[in-house]
Amino acid sequence: MVEIMRMTVLASGSKGNSTVVASAETRVLIDAGLSCRELMRRMAIAGEDPAALDAILITHEHQDHVAGLSVLARKLRIPVYFTEPTHRAWVRQMTPRSTITYAKWLERVQQEKEERAARVAAEMAGDDGSGDLDPSALQLVAAAEDAEEETEAAPAKSKADPANLPAVEYFQPGTGFSIGDLLVTPFTTPHDAADPCGFVFESASERQRMAIATDLGYVPPNVKAALKRIDVMLLESNHDLEMLKDGPYPWSVKQRVLSRVGHLSNHATAEFLANEYDGGAEYIVLGHLSEANNAPELALLAAEEAIRERGGLLGNRVLLARQAEPLDPICL
Ligand SMILES: [Zn+2]
Ligand SMILES: [Zn+2]
Repeated sequence: MVEIMRMTVLASGSKGNSTVVASAETRVLIDAGLSCRELMRRMAIAGEDPAALDAILITHEHQDHVAGLSVLARKLRIPVYFTEPTHRAWVRQMTPRSTITYAKWLERVQQEKEERAARVAAEMAGDDGSGDLDPSALQLVAAAEDAEEETEAAPAKSKADPANLPAVEYFQPGTGFSIGDLLVTPFTTPHDAADPCGFVFESASERQRMAIATDLGYVPPNVKAALKRIDVMLLESNHDLEMLKDGPYPWSVKQRVLSRVGHLSNHATAEFLANEYDGGAEYIVLGHLSEANNAPELALLAAEEAIRERGGLLGNRVLLARQAEPLDPICL
């Protein structure tokens, strides 16, 4: 059978997320939440060729989704797709506040003083604006030009700018776009980031559909609508409510996770699967499990029970995405 689409979850969980989605002619990486080196290692393990990637798509700017982004994108020289607010938030996050040493500051002050002196000398030397400069003033002008060259050389530093990317493409949630033969429809998710989203991917030829929906506090109507007619669904099952309540997180963090802009619990995911989901997926991959506040067996049990309650659902194999190692590629 000819493979039409493929999803390879390289990592999923609160400590890093990254997934490859491929159609016949296009391969994209969704999020890059591990170091570049680790992402490369995992792609090798899973049989995904990094050099064949066409683009990186970012769901939101949280560290567990972007940790290796800039290094990986520069290494592979591929464009990165963001929403504009997410890109802006990421750049802010990546740009260290500029502090300079006292020595650097002195140097800069001195330089400015010399430039000013040169300018003044040049002006004074030529009353009519075109007069000959005396030799000492010429020297000063030359010094000022040198200084300028130095400041103009400064953009070389921007090559080391951590937020520098080979190319940036903007998309808008709710508006589909294509990368090669892959149709991408981003949808807004309720999560405490600048402009978070999930994605539906569709192969242009065969109408096969895959979705990624993690990092959402609840399942709002637009997400329910996006998750119709999906063949492979990576769905968040972040925490067990009891484990979270009794767990090690400080109260404020527990509140955040539980909030409408936090993460889906096993219970909320099961509820969605039992009541709202259309039942049509071949695979449901449970992802973004919290290591501190969940147990894989609990997440699996809750989802499988919810599906069993539906009765007679064919397909619907439930898999668990892992934090520490990639899943085998899921092929359609
Ligand atoms: Zn997040
Ligand atoms: Zn996350």
